[in-house]
Amino acid sequence: MASTTGTVPSMSDLIQAGANDLKVEMKADSQLQDLDASKLHITQSTSLREVPEPNSEGVWGSKQCSDHMIKVIWTADHGWHAPEIVPYGPLTMMPTASCLHYATSCFEGMKVYRGFDGKLRLFRPDRNCGRLVTSSSRLALPAFDPVELEKLLKAFLGLDGPRWLPKSQAGNFLYIRPTIIGNGEELGVQVPAEVMLFVIAVPWPDLSTGQKPGAPPKAPGLKLLASKDDIRAWPGGFGYTKVSANYGPAFLSHMEGRKRGYDQILWLFGKDFQVTEAGASNFFVVWKTKEGKTELVTAPLTDKIILDGVTRRSVLELARERLSASSKDLPAGVEPLDVVERTFSMLEVEEAWKEGRLVEAFVAGTAYFITPVSAVNFRDTEIEIPMSNGDSGKYTAIVKDWLYDIMYGKVQHPWGVIIEEKE
Ligand SMILES: *Cc1c(COP(=O)(O)O)cnc(C)c1O
Repeated sequence: MASTTGTVPSMSDLIQAGANDLKVEMKADSQLQDLDASKLHITQSTSLREVPEPNSEGVWGSKQCSDHMIKVIWTADHGWHAPEIVPYGPLTMMPTASCLHYATSCFEGMKVYRGFDGKLRLFRPDRNCGRLVTSSSRLALPAFDPVELEKLLKAFLGLDGPRWLPKSQAGNFLYIRPTIIGNGEELGVQVPAEVMLFVIAVPWPDLSTGQKPGAPPKAPGLKLLASKDDIRAWPGGFGYTKVSANYGPAFLSHMEGRKRGYDQILWLFGKDFQVTEAGASNFFVVWKTKEGKTELVTAPLTDKIILDGVTRRSVLELARERLSASSKDLPAGVEPLDVVERTFSMLEVEEAWKEGRLVEAFVAGTAYFITPVSAVNFRDTEIEIPMSNGDSGKYTAIVKDWLYDIMYGKVQHPWGVIIEEKE
């Protein structure tokens, strides 16, 4: 239904116009170009940027990106254009760009690791590339073959890796941020006709200790504040994707938590205080059941209100393989545990704590890696979580070491994907 000349189009007109555009795009889908890494064009930077010292103040600012970036344009009439690696620099877009108004924006968070064997590695990049397609599709932005993005990442990091993560810095990493934005310039409420995929790499501090250089020493473990009225995600929503709209609106709670001396919000859901996840990390608890069994528990993916974290998945897979009663790899002196993905509530955590059954808790994610949790504030009760190793729980430390060894090439594992470097 078109609006007549001289009248302002209503919101429903605008939405209808968007839906019509979408139909046109979908019809033409078969003729559109796929993302194709073999068409990559590289423009090398002629003014290389200063590389900050690891964990220096510049690194804590997390804005000093590496020398280059990946940039790929998609347009509704052509599909994916030839990918480019160009010198790092500002993007230009019109004030009418879709992402500035309608949150047509999603991203990934990954790291590239300098191994103790001198090699550069990504950790399960297929998972991140696939998840970016899920997020993009949730926003009606274009999909692509995740394998092509993985190839582009390898080319980019092969170029910037040697300078930004020198072999002398074994154990250091860069944070990688693949992002998709709707940058088409039309203010109508509709699917954007132009989209940009870009990837930047940035030196990043070690958040798992939370220890800033020069700051007073911080006690080990994260302190979490359980959310009250604020909800991060809900059934039927988009909490299971890394769309930008999940993050900005959470900053208000986060700031409130910080003011009260907590590191992250533990997001609860529903009248029964279901535990979902913590900040931008998945949450795990180890407890003894009333029957005396040890369990590693985390929220399930089935409700689609938590993110399918790559670290979460890896923790679950390793724990099932190496910490279960039947495992041949069970470390000496460690009691086996059952791995459970189910809806659980803060009331259960509180009860376990009161009955002395709480063993440990940790968060898992790329940014925070595996970080022990020392306390959760739930309805003004400070639930102190044991840390049997002093600075961490025992299982937390074991799982963290296993993952660390894979990421930094102390053991060869299919999850650690080696990047060939341009010397
Ligand atoms: C990114 C993220 C995680 C962690 O996912 P990883 O793939 O392990 O980095 C968990 N929860 C939320 C909300 C996130 O945004």
